[in-house]
Amino acid sequence: METLVVDHPLVAHKLTVLRDANTDSPTFRRLADELVTLLAYEATRQVRVSEVTVQTPVAPARGVRLAHPHPLVVPILRAGLGMLDGMTRLLPTAEVGFLGMIRNESTLQAETYATRLPDDLSGRQVYVVDPMLATGGTLAAAIEFLFQRGADDVTALCLLAAPEGIAYLDKAFAGSGRPIRLVTAALDERLNEHGYIVPGLGDAGDRLYGVV
Ligand code: URA
Repeated sequence: METLVVDHPLVAHKLTVLRDANTDSPTFRRLADELVTLLAYEATRQVRVSEVTVQTPVAPARGVRLAHPHPLVVPILRAGLGMLDGMTRLLPTAEVGFLGMIRNESTLQAETYATRLPDDLSGRQVYVVDPMLATGGTLAAAIEFLFQRGADDVTALCLLAAPEGIAYLDKAFAGSGRPIRLVTAALDERLNEHGYIVPGLGDAGDRLYGVV
């Protein structure tokens, strides 16, 4: 898996405010949204385009536009929803699918409880969004699900990643030959005994939407 930690002062600034426990939910949502747009700029560097020619007021000009089929953005419910608008602002013609994942407490495996996705993802570039790459179990299951449906390549966007999560994904897809990229704003130190990223930013879903 190719991992990109976006090194940019604006990314670092917004992430620092997100980490601050005193940041309220409205501010958190707005900054997460802005941060995703910055990550999306890097994450879409390899988005497929096709060549077109347009007529300027002066002369024909060669350029590009997003190729068909358009990219698919997939937020993982619930916290991934907080990253959706930031993605679609940059990719307004992208289609959006939804994936609900939950951990089965008996098997400890991530399971899919809700899907709203095209049956056939062949030829699609997929951008899966989930704020926190912690143990990696959920994201690995989501990526596997998308490849099973035929996705060509999958780019995961996470606000924060833990080394344990990256190692899990690397192992899960080692030798699979599947094109997977991870784009994140920071690689943190570790997971604590409760599975939270340290120093992290706490529970991303709760900080976006409140404790329910
Ligand atoms: N999920 C979160 O929301 N936060 C963490 O730190 C780890 C997983």
